[in-house]
Amino acid sequence: MPTFVSHPEEVIVLKKRWGQGAADIEKYLELDGYKAVQEAIAQGPEWIVSVMKASGLRGRGGAGFPTGMKWSFVPKVSEKPKYVLVNGDESEPGTCKDHVIFLEDPHSVIEGTMIAGLAIGSKLGFIYLRGEYRYLLKIVEKAVADAYAKGFLGKNIFGKEGVDFDIITQTGAGAYEVGEESALMESLEGKRGVPRIKPPFPAIVGLYGGPTVINNAETIASVPHILMMGGEAYAKLGTERNGGTRLFGISGHVERPGVYELPMGYSLRKAIYEVAGGIKGGKKLKAVVPGGSSCPVLTADEIDVGLDFDQMGKAGTMLGSGGIVVLDETVSIVEFALRVISFYQHESCGWCIPCREGTDWIKKTLGRVYAGGGTKKDVDNVQYLAENMMGRTFCPLGDAAAMPTLGFVKKFRKEFEDYIDGHKAGTPIMTEQQLVGAGH
Ligand code: SF4
Repeated sequence: MPTFVSHPEEVIVLKKRWGQGAADIEKYLELDGYKAVQEAIAQGPEWIVSVMKASGLRGRGGAGFPTGMKWSFVPKVSEKPKYVLVNGDESEPGTCKDHVIFLEDPHSVIEGTMIAGLAIGSKLGFIYLRGEYRYLLKIVEKAVADAYAKGFLGKNIFGKEGVDFDIITQTGAGAYEVGEESALMESLEGKRGVPRIKPPFPAIVGLYGGPTVINNAETIASVPHILMMGGEAYAKLGTERNGGTRLFGISGHVERPGVYELPMGYSLRKAIYEVAGGIKGGKKLKAVVPGGSSCPVLTADEIDVGLDFDQMGKAGTMLGSGGIVVLDETVSIVEFALRVISFYQHESCGWCIPCREGTDWIKKTLGRVYAGGGTKKDVDNVQYLAENMMGRTFCPLGDAAAMPTLGFVKKFRKEFEDYIDGHKAGTPIMTEQQLVGAGH
């Protein structure tokens, strides 16, 4: 039985093999698997990078950096070994796409890693899964072992003399912060998963000091498909500067939550009302968190926007990780904002003061408001704290906590004030003890 949903509006590239048992290497081969990497070996690194540049693929982890350009930054000659690192540390709340890739089509990640390695001249790749995805590790490990058994990994792959590539799988210990690329490298090196100072950037000084390409799992899984269909053809599926399709995990108060593949630039309104079946139980839409919990919220009046990096930026939010969380009219924004900041306060590594103290003070202040002891000055203070975190932290987690907070207090200020005045909006979804209580 398929473990995912589908809809006729989808444009299928990445999901091509889903639901067909492609975790089995024989099935993957039957469905044109490992053809792209053989073509990549035949054509060489410059061809691979040119196809990737033409595809317009931008990193699917959230930052949206052009993949082909990222690969071209890696020096051709390096005294130290080069590495490919697949970021499968899918930790952004509301995001649920990479785990389906690992479940349904792990060989596409392996094949994409090999192609990235060929492109930059690396002989070793790492696939890093978040700690909570430990249950997926055996699927990925079996896929890697099967690829070795076929001679697709190891020495002289596909019988090509001198073409070597190995893959190592690894899980984290369950820290959101490790999704940041330099913290990911620290974690993989066996150290505490906190970020490094940049520059130097990983393409120059990365894992174990060697040049390293780090890409999200969805980005890497897209690579074999792009090589098979051609960069231009892939680019045409999306919008200008936003090539191709991407996976959107639509969750929350919709009739048909799921992971859908839609062309870049697809209407957010249609994604919610047509693809995901509209608001559950015929209720009214209240707000949408469009790309994982760190993205500023959109109100129900702001959803006529295309799902690509540029259009979402113009709308004052971000495409982020593609995790669309839909909130209906019953949701208390006061409670939701508290839940979001509680997550970031818990995940702050504590290294820099604006993030460590800012998340804690915002959580305490919103906790007081939620508990019924707040004043309107508290809302001003929350805004002040979040504004003073923005751009002042060592890594993006500080901004990730501040941005949604600012969105909530600016766009739903009246709801906060009504709540303080005793007109509690929405139905509580967590008890006060769960939200504010011990443990964090
Ligand atoms: Fe740690 Fe600072 Fe990053 Fe927060 S912003 S997670 S305290 S390094």
